[in-house]
Amino acid sequence: MTCGIVGLPNVGKSTLFNAITEAGAGAENYPFCTIDPNVGIVDVPDKRLDVLTEVIDPKESIPTAIEFVDIAGLVKGASKGEGLGNKFLSHIREVDAIAHVVRCFDDSNITHVEGDLDPIRDIETISMELILADLETMEKRAEKTEKMLKTGEKKYKEEMEVLEKIIGTLEDGKPVRSLNLSFEEKDIIRDCHLLTIKPILYVANVGEDEIGEEDNKHVQAVRDYADKEEAAVITVSAKLEAEVAELEGAEEELFLEELGIEESGLDKLIRAGYKLLGLITFFTAGEKEVRAWTAEEGSTAPEAAGKIHTDMQKGFIRAEVISYEDLIEVGSFAKARDEGLLRLEGKDYIVKDGDVCYFRFNV
Ligand code: GDP
Repeated sequence: MTCGIVGLPNVGKSTLFNAITEAGAGAENYPFCTIDPNVGIVDVPDKRLDVLTEVIDPKESIPTAIEFVDIAGLVKGASKGEGLGNKFLSHIREVDAIAHVVRCFDDSNITHVEGDLDPIRDIETISMELILADLETMEKRAEKTEKMLKTGEKKYKEEMEVLEKIIGTLEDGKPVRSLNLSFEEKDIIRDCHLLTIKPILYVANVGEDEIGEEDNKHVQAVRDYADKEEAAVITVSAKLEAEVAELEGAEEELFLEELGIEESGLDKLIRAGYKLLGLITFFTAGEKEVRAWTAEEGSTAPEAAGKIHTDMQKGFIRAEVISYEDLIEVGSFAKARDEGLLRLEGKDYIVKDGDVCYFRFNV
């Protein structure tokens, strides 16, 4: 699951991204990942994993992770090839969701590319580049479909209707996500990898002295804007995050406590990213390891098993499932089995957030 970080130059993207890589997930858990300077993998903090680890006392405890990609260099005119324009747009095509960083901190020492501080104008600048890029993609697609219309096949007529609807929305300066397309409609344009169909989260970067305070007027403006789009907003101070990222465990907690903050901006970002992507966490728990895994909401038991290993999905027989709460309450699998709390679920079972699963499969 990947989340791309976009935003105008000088808004604090690299500072935030560096905090992400600094806080980075234990590399030992991801031995097969290629080392890409623009990709940062972070552990998803989850108190349930800590409790499970305490109760079961395994040799190892492994959190699940989320990937952030730094997509720097998106500037005005990118869709027309300005800067390294198109190259950056193609990076965005590959991510599952977008975190759009907007500058909401006042600092006269740091120049703003547009002169003054105006987060809504900044949002619209980036948004317009993405809309223009999508418009070009859709117009090319419509040209092809237009030719196919001559075949008289019904499916091309239906396709054209969807394309026209999308083109109209983009021409109005609105993102494709605002159309709330049906699954079937999305299927028609899935291979176009549209940019503005991806879920978006605004990250308001505020001054380090503003964290834990009331929203400043710029953040307020971003919230009003996002509300209309049904998008989420979180506030962080990238500069502060860079400091927090260098601390660990108790030290970090103490630092946050002193500042009167409950949760670091990074944890906020991870949680919001998770929600934005519609993800859930399930667990596997044995003497060897207790581990958290990520799956899409609505995943069936075999699909969830496939997150662990494709063989587990292919050879899926059934799952033994218990909710996290039930397991913690009785304290062990043996007891859970005795009390009939361990359920046997088949291939149609929809895995729930917090399920602890044991998959049985044929090899
Ligand atoms: P990018 O171009 O979007 O990647 O922006 P950078 O991360 O390089 O940040 C641009 C400048 O803004 C740097 O000098 C940062 O130190 C500064 N900066 C970033 N976040 C904050 C912040 O929260 N407060 C203040 N005062 N400065 C910040």
